[in-house]
Amino acid sequence: MTEKYFLDYYTIRKNIDLKISEILSFHKEDIICKKGCSRCCTAITLFPVEFFAIKQEINKTLSLSNSENIKQDHDCIFLKDSICTIYESRPIICRTQGLPLLYFSDKLETYTISYCDNNFSSCNEDFEFDTEYSIDLDRLNSSLYKLNKEFMKEIDFENNIDKRIQISLLPSSISGDIDYKSPSLYFSE
Ligand code: SF4
Repeated sequence: MTEKYFLDYYTIRKNIDLKISEILSFHKEDIICKKGCSRCCTAITLFPVEFFAIKQEINKTLSLSNSENIKQDHDCIFLKDSICTIYESRPIICRTQGLPLLYFSDKLETYTISYCDNNFSSCNEDFEFDTEYSIDLDRLNSSLYKLNKEFMKEIDFENNIDKRIQISLLPSSISGDIDYKSPSLYFSE
């Protein structure tokens, strides 16, 4: 039953990848994000639905060590020599880092755009972003939140929809197989 939620997650991810391709193509002169830059690779937390969807994927493709007690420090544990070792399965937030991110005000009357200051360095102060080539982060987070809410309801954890899980727990195997029936074992304190 949980497979449906993981497939929905992979669809959201695929769609955001398509959007990112468009943005990178449109801003190819201004975005210099590339392999080897790891400024954004800090230890993050994930919605349970994203955590278990990625866990299912990397359990199939990678032989990860059974490391239940990995300590979460400042850097992401998947960063090795400034390269992401789960690049194809990396979380959605990792995919959007550094790109123009659009935030609307509460009444949707104004918006701001943030981006990595390594990018757009040759643009002057008057540079106008085209919102079409930005990522509406609130909308993206809303779709992930909604999916996570449905997932938590499915596994009878709807009272814990605000819980997130440290990315450092992805390689762990608390009870052998993927244990989405006991997500509380993974919850951040
Ligand atoms: S999963 Fe990969 S891209 Fe994301 S923070 Fe970790 S090392 Fe960086």
